[in-house]
Parts: sequence; structure tokens; C-alpha cells
Amino acid sequence: MDLWTRATLKSLVLPGGVLLLISALVLRNPVVFIPAATLNFYYYAVFIAGILIAWRFHSSRVLFAILTLLLAHRAVEFFSGSGTVSSASGHAALETVAFLIPLNFVFVSFSRERGFVLQDITRRLALLFFQSVFVAVVCRPGYGTLASPHGSQPRLVAESVPWIYVAALGVLLIRLLLYRKPLENGLLWSLVATLIALRVGVIGREGDYYFATAGLILASSMLESSYALAFHDELTGLPGRRAFNDALLRLKEAYAIAMVDIDHFKRFNDTYGHETGDEVLRMVAAKLAQVTGGGTAYRIGGEEFCILFPGKSQQETIPRLELIRKGVAASQFRVRNVQERRSIQRVPEEVERRNQLRRLGDRSVRTKQLPGSRQSGHSICDGTVSVTISIGVAEPTSRMRGTDDVLQSADKALYRAKQSGRNRVEAATAFHVKKARVARPNIA
Ligand code: GH3
Ligand code: MG
Ligand code: MG
Repeated sequence: MDLWTRATLKSLVLPGGVLLLISALVLRNPVVFIPAATLNFYYYAVFIAGILIAWRFHSSRVLFAILTLLLAHRAVEFFSGSGTVSSASGHAALETVAFLIPLNFVFVSFSRERGFVLQDITRRLALLFFQSVFVAVVCRPGYGTLASPHGSQPRLVAESVPWIYVAALGVLLIRLLLYRKPLENGLLWSLVATLIALRVGVIGREGDYYFATAGLILASSMLESSYALAFHDELTGLPGRRAFNDALLRLKEAYAIAMVDIDHFKRFNDTYGHETGDEVLRMVAAKLAQVTGGGTAYRIGGEEFCILFPGKSQQETIPRLELIRKGVAASQFRVRNVQERRSIQRVPEEVERRNQLRRLGDRSVRTKQLPGSRQSGHSICDGTVSVTISIGVAEPTSRMRGTDDVLQSADKALYRAKQSGRNRVEAATAFHVKKARVARPNIA
């Protein structure tokens, strides 16, 4: 796994890390003084807005995490009695919530989002209720076992970083690196904010501030999630249609647009099933994402993609597109399930072709490099399959300036690529395009 790409760094720090940094800088800035009323407003606005956003975005996980923060903070404040965590009860509350917050955050990270379904909400609220009862029992006056090790000495902060925090932060970091989801980012940085609150003092200005910031991070991670959903295609991870429309608006004078379509994909789905089709879409998307020359690939619909090349001419993009086309055609991946294996055995032309190649002593039939990769459509061999793509590319001309026209022109070029046998790049305006040679007719 390439750990330190730009995208990885972005998923690590946005939005939680940046928000926490800004919050810390604001608080530490000697020029900025936050009046008590403003702080109070910030605190309640964050939690009320967070709960409302969780409700509107149907996220029972975020609702649970925000309520965890709020209840934990209120519990410490309630049991501390006065303005500081000085009593044994307050002390016990501090230690108990320092244990429960990370545990709950890890639970949220592993739990599945089921939306605002009554059963799920009830289960989560019941869990919070039991924990509240537990805190109330442990922290009731006179039940001082948790507080006693520190005697009657007032303690405003957690004296060391609780081991469970270290473990939970580690787990959340691993999950963030694995899944790179905004909510995983929110949970990680929100937990860091509560840890800072524990270290600087849960009760008082800074405690309120960091607990509110923890809530703010969770709420913004939810907004970031919905932004990602709107602008990114979930299946392939490529930017989606909205991002594409947005990028079209930002194009300057010189640019090229390539339209990409997988060949005979309907037949592929019919043969291997939709799930394998989805895997192919991911594979093709991953190849398209590697396009060079400043191009950006978008998934604009079903099995159709677009690549935008700002500042490039049609001619300049051709070698880049050829590379992508060849890369897709040469990629093999294993067919996994039984139905697909049966399908392989059912295609007599392919079996015959394999036998013929074996008779001729062609060893490549057993390896990943298939001669079939030159064909259009999909080819199969020894349980591996490949697909091909066709590409139409266009650029603005004196007669055709608008992006709609250029798109239409690229679409027509794509149509010509399909008509000419697929697995090729076709340019809208005439010049010498090195077309892919089709070694064999399509398998029917
Ligand atoms: P052509 O070479 O002419 O493009 O043939 P084709 O079969 O690819 O034709 P067409 O573009 O009309 O077919 C699109 C197919 O793409 C239909 C549908 O089965 C498949 N498809 C669209 N979206 C998805 C998706 O999200 N997942 C999967 N697995 N298949 C999809
Ligand atoms: Mg299509
Ligand atoms: Mg197609």
C-alpha cells in the first residue's frame, strides 16, 4: 500500500486534523480572547447542530458519538459538583469517562451504519443509558474506590494518558489508513480533542472548548462524507458526474475531452455476473486514474468514463490514451465464483482457442500475459478474464467552442471507435491516429 500519497495525507488530516489545529491556535493566540458567553454559545450550538445534522443525514453512528461526548462531559461536570474536579465523585467520573469515550469511539468505528432505523437507534440509546447508569453507580458519593488511589488531592486533569486511549487511537488510525473515510477521520481527531481536554482539564473553559471542538469535528466529518458522496463515485472512488460538471465549468480555452466506454460490457455482466462486472469497473477506473499528462478521470455513468485534459491538445493526449487502452487490455484478473467458472467452460470458442494454443506449444496461455488481450470485448483463459475499452477524444475548434459541443464530438468519435471494431482510440478531428490492431474478431 502506498501510504504517503497526497490523497492519503488529505484523508488523514481533513477535516478533523485541520479543525483541531485551528481550534488550538485560536485558543492559544494571546490576541484572541473568547468571552464566556461566546464559549457557551459555541458549546451548545455545536452539540445541537451536531445532533440535528446527524438526524438529517440519517447517521445513527455520529449521533451516538456526539451523545457520548456530551454525556461524558456533563457527567464529569455533574459529579465534580463545584467548578473543578475536586471531589472523589468527580474524580471517579473523570476516570470512568476517560475509559468509556475511547471504547465507544472504537465501537462506533466498527459498527455498521443502518440509518435512522428505530431498532438501531433504540439499541444505541440503550447502550448509552446503561453506561450512564454505570457512571452514576461508580461515582455516587461514598463509593470512592476509583478515586481513592489519589487520596483527597484535587486533580484537575488526567495525570497520564490512559492506555485505552493509546489503544483506541491506534485502532482508529489503522482503520483510517485502511478505509480513508471522513467519519474515521472524524472519530480519530475527535478522540484526540477529548484527550487534550483530559490533559488540560475537563472542567472549565478549556475543557468546554475542546469537548465542543470534538463535537464540531464529528459534525464536519459527516458533512465531508456527504460531500464525498455527492462528488465521488462510491464504487470506483473516481470523481463522479457532479465533479465532472464542475470541472467542465473551470476549463479554459485549450483542453481535450476523452470519452471512454468498456466494450461489450453488457455481455460481460451476463456471462460473469454483476459483481464481477463491478470488479472490472474498479479495475478499469484504477487504470484510468493513472492517466498521465495532467488528465483527470471521472465516472460519468454506468460503464462510461471521461478524462479531462486541461491545457492539452487532442493530439497530445493520444499517446496517453493509447497507454491506458493497452494497459486495460493487458490486465488480467481472476474469476472467483463457481457460476463464472461454469461460464468459462461453456464458451466453446475459448476452450478450442486454448487447446489450439497449447497444441502449438504457446506457453503464454498458462501465464497472465494472454494473446487474447489484443481482442476487443472480453477474453478468458484459465480462470482469468480481461476486457477492452474504446476511447473517443475531441478538442474545441473554431466552429465548436462550447464544452457541450466538444463532448458531443468526443461521443461521436467514441461511436466511430466502436464501429471500427472497438479496443481503439479515435480522434474527433482528422490526423494520423495510431489505431489498435485487432488481431482476431470478437468472441461471440
Ligand atoms: P459496447 O461495446 O457497444 O459499449 O457494448 P456494451 O455492452 O458495453 O453496451 P452498453 O454500453 O449499452 O452497455 C452498458 C452495460 O453496462 C449495461 C449494464 O449491464 C452495464 N453496467 C452499467 N452500469 C453498471 C454497474 O454499475 N455495474 C455493472 N456491473 N454493470 C454496469
Ligand atoms: Mg455504454
Ligand atoms: Mg459499453
